[in-house]
Amino acid sequence: MFPRARHGWIEVVSGVMFSGKSEELIRRVRRALIAGRRVQLFKSHLDDRYGGEFRISSHDGRQIDAEPVSNAVQVAERVSPETQVVAIDEAQFLDDGICEVADALADAGMRVIVAGTDMDFRGEPFGPMGLLLARAERIDKLSAICVVCGDPATRNQRLIDGEPAPAEGPTIQVGGAESYEARCRRCHKVPKRDRAQGELVLGGTEGPRGRTG
Ligand code: ADP
Ligand code: ZN
Repeated sequence: MFPRARHGWIEVVSGVMFSGKSEELIRRVRRALIAGRRVQLFKSHLDDRYGGEFRISSHDGRQIDAEPVSNAVQVAERVSPETQVVAIDEAQFLDDGICEVADALADAGMRVIVAGTDMDFRGEPFGPMGLLLARAERIDKLSAICVVCGDPATRNQRLIDGEPAPAEGPTIQVGGAESYEARCRRCHKVPKRDRAQGELVLGGTEGPRGRTG
């Protein structure tokens, strides 16, 4: 028998909201469970889509629960040395330290699967996702369907009271009557508040009085 190579890697599942990142992460975790791997699953505590509980079951009856974490150090502290696969959902909400943690886990021989939306509502890299994408051995970028025109969606549209939210808002909005849509580049709107005019300018590529959309 040849000894098995002992090295891990990082794989990132990125893309816009509603593109199926969590579905893909769950699929990979379920298959790892079927393969008999020892898996640990983490998710940002900021994500409450699963009603506080996120359990993945395989058909052979094995199941694991997601452990909520609020930063990269908590991931590092909670990974057991026996773990073979580490999966992290909603990684955009974690700090940049998750890159070093993911690297260290991969160096220690683990398969690290990271899912997260790669762009914030302005279309800028979201949290540590840009750094993670640069370090990953494998990247899958998923698209959703633009709710306006039906083309492939690559952007997160933030809406406040149904209107495109201005660029100046915080990247992570806590509370408030906001919602998100998947949109394509053309239908994605990020009004910039023009300080001289005091009016909202859509797009931002034209002059102070310009307006697109
Ligand atoms: P993500 O983790 O990327 O936010 P999820 O895996 O939670 O995505 O959800 C993906 C599912 O969302 C799709 O399978 C589909 O049923 C649903 N969905 C809702 N809105 C859209 C949309 N605009 N485009 C594509 N899928 C959508
Ligand atoms: Zn569109």
